Amino acid sequence: MPAYDPSNIFARILRGEIPNDTVLETPHTLAFRDIRPQAPVHVLVIPKGAYVSYDDFAANAPDAEIVDFHRAVARVTRDLGVDLDQGQGFRAITNAGEHGVQEVPHFHLHILGGRSMGRMVQ
Ligand code: IMP
Repeated sequence: MPAYDPSNIFARILRGEIPNDTVLETPHTLAFRDIRPQAPVHVLVIPKGAYVSYDDFAANAPDAEIVDFHRAVARVTRDLGVDLDQGQGFRAITNAGEHGVQEVPHFHLHILGGRSMGRMVQ
């Protein structure tokens, strides 16, 4: 696992150095709109802890942070109306490392919805 780089842009957002369009904040999690949205709903959900990627988070975060993060994901899908009770669904993806073409080295989950996202493999 590469060392966590505290100068990455999401770490700067968490420190309040860069503004963001927050949709939800919980004790361990922040969700905010992607600056270059790929869909009508495009939110990034990030843990407040310093984790490089999903595997780093899943392996190393305390249980309380992992639960808080996933409950926050559910709340975001409900609050933005893309959950399956009131909406038409969403895609949740995370990019990790070079082959995942991860741009920002702080674990984040993309929540995309508001339109059909298409098949992943054509
Ligand atoms: P990745 O390729 O999964 O690392 O995606 C990083 C995402 O962060 C991209 O979709 C960017 O548009 C988004 N992003 C980069 N900087 C900011 C920012 O300052 N605010 C919100 N989103 C950002």
